[in-house]
Amino acid sequence: MIIGGGVVGLSSAWYLHHAGYQVTVLDQGDMLSSCSTGNAGYICPSHVVPLAAPGMVAKGLKMMLDPKAPFYIRPRMNTELWRWTWLFMRHANHRHLMASREALASLSLMSQHAREEIGMITGIQADYAKRGLLMACQTKGHLAQEIEESEHAVAVGMDVQILTQDDIRAMDPALEMDLVGGVLYPGDTHIHPGRWMGGLREALLGEGVQIIPNTTVTGLLTRGNQIVGVHTSAGEMEAGEVVLCGGAWSGELLKKQGFRLPMQGAKGYSFTLDNPPVLPKFPFILADYKVAVTPMGNQLRFAGTLELAGLDPSMNQQRLDRILEVVQKSIPAYRDYDFSGIQPWAGFRPCSPDGLPYIGRWPGLAGLTIATGHAMLGMTLGAGTGQLVAELLTGSEPRLSLAPFRPDRFR
Ligand SMILES: Cc1cc2nc3c(=O)[nH]c(=O)nc-3n(C[C@H](O)[C@H](O)[C@H](O)COP(=O)(O)OP(=O)(O)OC[C@H]3O[C@@H](n4cnc5c(N)ncnc54)[C@H](O)[C@@H]3O)c2cc1C
Repeated sequence: MIIGGGVVGLSSAWYLHHAGYQVTVLDQGDMLSSCSTGNAGYICPSHVVPLAAPGMVAKGLKMMLDPKAPFYIRPRMNTELWRWTWLFMRHANHRHLMASREALASLSLMSQHAREEIGMITGIQADYAKRGLLMACQTKGHLAQEIEESEHAVAVGMDVQILTQDDIRAMDPALEMDLVGGVLYPGDTHIHPGRWMGGLREALLGEGVQIIPNTTVTGLLTRGNQIVGVHTSAGEMEAGEVVLCGGAWSGELLKKQGFRLPMQGAKGYSFTLDNPPVLPKFPFILADYKVAVTPMGNQLRFAGTLELAGLDPSMNQQRLDRILEVVQKSIPAYRDYDFSGIQPWAGFRPCSPDGLPYIGRWPGLAGLTIATGHAMLGMTLGAGTGQLVAELLTGSEPRLSLAPFRPDRFR
């Protein structure tokens, strides 16, 4: 039984089904609008610096004063948030970055292969393209920051190219932007996440996996220290193994069980244009503002902001406006573009306080496995996480060390 039909849940379903398990996926929503559908679609092993990185605490405090900043914490009297923030502050340092970058790189690279494997077997295209990912910089200061950050990618063996404005112009002469340069990660790829998720769902259904939307898991059914099923909004269901892939909601569900899994949902937004006036040839992040721009087939998506404001699904108009302002300011072809009528999308990134996912068996309750907390990298790490989940359940040696991802590391 898998709780959650996002990219981690469906990838786990794929590998468990292929390992011979009879799999059921339950989701509290319709699965069409989860965090795994409206994101920026980067599969980016180059991103080896976790969210809890040196300098993030100072940046976060400064940005809290600016309602339009790319990163925002809504102050609340909430003990979970305070504990999460305290743990985040303890990890946002150089030592943690050095200890994490290798682990993230290994998981990302194996995950990129796993996704390609699923794509090949199922034939799902989902506008997949390998055109790298450019960090496009408009100021020298941000270019210097990006070059510094790219040194971590180089250190773990990623391909990195520092580009001038002329180099970038040559990559797409029709795309006018005022840049000082950029950092290109040629090994990164991108995909249309909604189309990928839709294709994967169809493929799983076609192979006999049961997928049940609009059914909330409200608790775990246990006998002694063994899991035997789940309580749901549609009644009790039996299960010998339960894999929790509940994204940003995972901490709440475990809390009911008396287990602690620090988790905050970090809301982000995106806008998708069906007929964009200019469709860039490659994906890029406007690094000065942390706004992602991704061509996805015939569509163009703008995505951004990271807002710690609980699991409140309402959209913050100021922050939505900021994404569009950045696009209009940075890409002249969009200066007079009329965005009215384009429906924004919002999703919650599931964030652990140290920026690393939770992947592993939950000690003390046989039959419970956790696979969540992938923060800004769920599309990148989802397929590989599914592969690791299947290895854990079948008892084979996981292909990489799961020690950095232990789900009980903050117990
Ligand atoms: C704006 C934005 C841009 C992003 N861009 C990228 C990117 O370019 N590249 C990248 O790698 N990542 C990106 N991400 C991050 C990525 O989208 C997430 O990390 C990923 O989608 C998380 O997948 P998931 O399966 O863990 O969670 P989700 O997709 O949230 O799925 C969890 C599912 O569990 C269900 N669920 C929860 N609790 C229960 C319950 N009790 N009972 C039943 N069902 C339950 C939910 O309904 C949900 O469908 C971005 C995120 C955002 C917001």
